[in-house]
Amino acid sequence: MSSKTSGPPHVVIIGAGVVGACCATYLQEQGARVTLIDRQRPGDDGASSFGNAGVLAPASFVPTPAPGMLAKVPGWLLKEDGPLSIRWSYLPRLLPWLVRFVRAGGDAVHQEKAADALAALHASTLDLHSRLAMEAGVPGLVAPIEYLHVYGSEKAYAEAGRIQTMYRERGVDFEVLGRGELHEAEPDLASHYVKGVRIKGQGRTLNPGRLIRAYVDRIVADGGELRLTEVTGIEASAGRVKAVRTGDGTIEGDAFVLSAGAFSRGLADRLGLDLPLDTERGYHVTFPDPGVTVSHVVMEAEGKFVANPMEMGLRFAGTVELAGVDAPPNPRRAEAIERLAKRMYPKLRLEGATRWMGRRPSMPDGLPVVGPSPRHENLWLAFGHGHTGMIAGPTTGRIVAGMITGPMPNLDVAPFRADRF
Ligand SMILES: Cc1cc2nc3c(=O)[nH]c(=O)nc-3n(C[C@H](O)[C@H](O)[C@H](O)COP(=O)(O)OP(=O)(O)OC[C@H]3O[C@@H](n4cnc5c(N)ncnc54)[C@H](O)[C@@H]3O)c2cc1C
Repeated sequence: MSSKTSGPPHVVIIGAGVVGACCATYLQEQGARVTLIDRQRPGDDGASSFGNAGVLAPASFVPTPAPGMLAKVPGWLLKEDGPLSIRWSYLPRLLPWLVRFVRAGGDAVHQEKAADALAALHASTLDLHSRLAMEAGVPGLVAPIEYLHVYGSEKAYAEAGRIQTMYRERGVDFEVLGRGELHEAEPDLASHYVKGVRIKGQGRTLNPGRLIRAYVDRIVADGGELRLTEVTGIEASAGRVKAVRTGDGTIEGDAFVLSAGAFSRGLADRLGLDLPLDTERGYHVTFPDPGVTVSHVVMEAEGKFVANPMEMGLRFAGTVELAGVDAPPNPRRAEAIERLAKRMYPKLRLEGATRWMGRRPSMPDGLPVVGPSPRHENLWLAFGHGHTGMIAGPTTGRIVAGMITGPMPNLDVAPFRADRF
């Protein structure tokens, strides 16, 4: 990177979700001076990093756009509690993204390459988060756990055979549980579940919002700057970013990182970067006094949501709503998760539940953008991690820090280039 000042570079990072916080942490570790900007307190509920399912699973590398998905969509949309909903008024704006998404799902070669790229990006998640959590003074917020996919019918299990093939080909340690073993492993699970797939060596966080807050607190304690203000624009000329405009005036820097999650698109558009970022919104419901025991992170394979016992209670989180970043939350989507959670754990106590909607930042090919801006020599892009941003955050931070200050982690970053579209 060419720097206009001598001494350590001053890197300005837009967005302090898991991605921005991890970029700042590793940049600071490499001697950079960092300024993190967020319009809200890091880890608060406007960030996707606040309310997610907390899964830190290296094995979550199967790309979201999947073969055969198109055939299932009508059934999903017709079901009141289905895993997918679309706000029809948003469809005209969504269409170009959707076409690319469907195309990526039908491309077998892309599927394999994308799974390899995500497997590399996710491989060290548990080690890296464990180290970051330890250094941030919250070691108890990251823990190893086994991940259990549960199937309510033999048909649903058979349909997921492709995922097991991808696991086998990439050395994932898993076992298939028959009905008896499944209910022995998770005794409170409803009796209609017939099969489970238990994946070893995975991880989770017990509170994603508090974890990110701790990461940012550590950055500040180590001399980094946190500015709580909205970024309203980015000033660039002659292929260089000069400064970001905020509610509190302009902030200059030597290098800039755009990591504003699903909101990155608005800022990127204004820089002339035409990147197909959209959002797959998801919901959570957390039950503070659930009255059931859950010993794994449990994935309801057909409902496409996860149950994770957290310090705030038992959280059920997932599903997809395609409605853009600006539409208000749809309470019916959270109510659907609540009904499905009760069906999954019939003894679940529903009192005191809290609900939340978050915006996954999603690229249509299922891979994030991590790398230099195609049009600016001192701007790096780090967004679009979709369903797995918590998992991918630390390695994304290492890549961005490696590109700005060195050294680069040992993995192929070509699949994440911004100019692939
Ligand atoms: C229901 C649900 C469940 C999920 N479960 C998991 C899971 O189990 N595991 C997993 O790995 N991932 C999961 N995810 C995905 C994960 O949460 C995201 O991929 C990840 O949090 C994205 O992080 P980010 O830092 O890119 O964006 P965010 O966390 O959204 O952070 C972006 C930040 O930028 C700030 N910002 C935006 N615009 C501006 C602006 N103009 N000025 C100043 N600040 C701005 C925002 O305030 C925000 O703090 C889930 C997501 C959802 C919705």
